[in-house]
Amino acid sequence: MFEDSKSLKVREESFVARHARSVPPDKGIPVDRIECQHCKMVWHRPSGAGRPPHFCSDACKQAAWRLRAQLKLRDLANSRLRNTSEDIERFHAELAAITLRTPLRETRILPLLRELAGAPLADRRTAQQLYKAAVLRWHPDTGGDTATFQLLQAAYHEAKRYEL
Ligand SMILES: [Zn+2]
Repeated sequence: MFEDSKSLKVREESFVARHARSVPPDKGIPVDRIECQHCKMVWHRPSGAGRPPHFCSDACKQAAWRLRAQLKLRDLANSRLRNTSEDIERFHAELAAITLRTPLRETRILPLLRELAGAPLADRRTAQQLYKAAVLRWHPDTGGDTATFQLLQAAYHEAKRYEL
């Protein structure tokens, strides 16, 4: 991957800094063993120097964060697989039942948003927070179901109208 000279310099400096404070474990002074959580490189430093760092360098820290973001996206994709066809059918029926004469009832709005977000009944999140969670699950751009997304929009529209 492309790495500009500035970030290379930063990485070099942190490498130098790490080795400047690194001490061998066999000189009779108490040392802490520190392991980078990303590249697993091990070094030692005198004990009692405060909280040990999680990473050997900024490069490893950033790589670890990128990896974590990727795993989060993968979990999201997996959770979509758990959007069962039963759920989707039920939501389609609920969307079809909403007409001018039979709008979404006020008491149904929050429970519906919870269901759409896959949240438990006792979830205390606000309508807006539930909406955001549900968007991640149902947005068509990321593989969600279009009609269910429309139901979500309708529910959130009503939530705002009732100021829930
Ligand atoms: Zn590392």
